[in-house]
Amino acid sequence: MQWRTQNEEETRIIGECVGACLLPGHMVALIGDLGAGKTCLTKGLAKGLGVPDQYEITSPTFTLINEYPGRIRLCHVDAYRLDNSRDMADTGFEDFFNAQVVVVIEWAERIRDILPEGTLFITFAYIDDTTRGLTFSGDEGLIQAIKEKIVRSGLSYV
Ligand code: ADP
Ligand code: MG
Repeated sequence: MQWRTQNEEETRIIGECVGACLLPGHMVALIGDLGAGKTCLTKGLAKGLGVPDQYEITSPTFTLINEYPGRIRLCHVDAYRLDNSRDMADTGFEDFFNAQVVVVIEWAERIRDILPEGTLFITFAYIDDTTRGLTFSGDEGLIQAIKEKIVRSGLSYV
């Protein structure tokens, strides 16, 4: 599934649709360069998960993992500063795999080999200053549910 967003707000809306469809234990891998829109999408996803508005979602570049309460607890990971998945394993990250939380990972390509089966991948392409291409892959049922949500949100399919 592919979408094209024309501005930050549209990427956030897509994130909100993703968040609304997630269940405990889901893992979302975000792939894309700096400025692609990973954190922007995560802000919407947090909203869709019911994280209260008072929490500001920022890239956990230095803290590695930020956690937020919500309908489902959100663990927001940034793998940017990791050299490889061994570093990530050292953090006890794998404890999350069966946990009752949702895990969202920026720069997930750096730890691709330890991502569990069933991970939802969202890959960002920088098209121009304000346009991004978002490609979804992973669990077909989940992707279909997200697609229906996005269509209902009023975003046009491009
Ligand atoms: P990342 O976490 O991938 O480094 P951010 O979400 O922090 O990226 O930043 C994305 C930047 O791109 C923001 O400055 C945002 O305003 C800008 N932007 C422009 N167009 C879009 C779009 N269609 N979707 C998301 N962000 C966009
Ligand atoms: Mg970021």
